[in-house]
Amino acid sequence: MIQVNKIQMVDLVSQYQDIKQEVDEAILSVIENANFINGPEVNSFKSDLESYLNVNHVQPCANGTDALQIALMALGLKPGDEVITPSFTYIATTEVMALLGLKPVFVEVNPDTFCIDASKIEAVITSKTKAIVPVHLYGQAAPMNEIMAIAKKHNLFVVEDNAQAIGCDYILSNGETVKTGTIGTIGCTSFFPSKNLGCYGDGGALFTNDSELAVKIKMIANHGQSKKYYHDVVGCNSRLDTIQAAVLKIKLKKLNEYNAARNKVASYYDNFFVQFPQIITPVRATDSNHVFHQYTLKVEGLDRDELNNFLEEKGVPSMIYYPVPAHRQKMFESFGSASTHLPITDWLTERVISLPIHTEMKQEHLDVICNAVAEFIKSKE
Ligand SMILES: *Cc1c(COP(=O)(O)O)cnc(C)c1O
Repeated sequence: MIQVNKIQMVDLVSQYQDIKQEVDEAILSVIENANFINGPEVNSFKSDLESYLNVNHVQPCANGTDALQIALMALGLKPGDEVITPSFTYIATTEVMALLGLKPVFVEVNPDTFCIDASKIEAVITSKTKAIVPVHLYGQAAPMNEIMAIAKKHNLFVVEDNAQAIGCDYILSNGETVKTGTIGTIGCTSFFPSKNLGCYGDGGALFTNDSELAVKIKMIANHGQSKKYYHDVVGCNSRLDTIQAAVLKIKLKKLNEYNAARNKVASYYDNFFVQFPQIITPVRATDSNHVFHQYTLKVEGLDRDELNNFLEEKGVPSMIYYPVPAHRQKMFESFGSASTHLPITDWLTERVISLPIHTEMKQEHLDVICNAVAEFIKSKE
């Protein structure tokens, strides 16, 4: 039984109802033709996404984590190389660095936008630094103009973690508007079901405008193969299933509409919470729009965990993204990163809380959520 009235962080069931017929037919067609691996839908989705992003090359792969790993492999990074990245992110961003023997060098984020603070990058650049991996966290672009200028000056690669920001627009210094993920050397994304463009399982992709890199990326994602059974480099096996490509092809047509629906929810929250000085609503960057993968508040003078528990009791889901920043994860103990001084990251970790946001949000749900937060604040006055 589907509980239609329960408030959820993400409501993929209602979203499916709207595209059910088209999706069902597309999935059935893949099954009837037994085109499970590398079926025509994969290439067709790849070119649709290239057009949407206005990028020369898209390489579909198995998930967003693989995309990041393949990107760092394609750039030829070697064990011991240093990669500059925020600690305030999902673990996948930095985990793949450790997996490849690279050293993540954690940099502070801007407390307003939650993205890497570009003014703090140059201080940590060494002779071993090879790349910067900014994350467009919660659906808003990192300061790419500043990051690209630093990368150019120090001859560094830039890999954009675009898993939370597909469809986001960024204004370049020359005034041109481009999609995030197409600005750096390589862009990476995830099609995890709850992402802004999500499939019905795992999926991911890499983007690049560099044709030579595109060849390498394609090779690495396919066992380092240049032609069948001839393996030139060490690669991996990372494919997007045909069924997932078929779903994504349909959902890509709706991505702008989906991102607009998320923005409508965000504006409603913004307007409601303006009356409470204890609630700091998301700050909009001037060089980026926001696709609101998450709607994340900062609370001040309130116990964030108490609010989180209060909402749970009221049947309102909320999430902490993320309860432990990367530099404090046990995984990185041997890197000694816990001693990295990141007071803003630590401060944010204790103050952020994300409210439900998705494409099918109903006004009655927004009312329940907002009233629950208001009730908590008033109970503390
Ligand atoms: C989801 C996500 C990933 C990883 O994507 P998967 O498809 O789950 O492997 C990487 N980085 C960020 C910022 C993410 O949100």
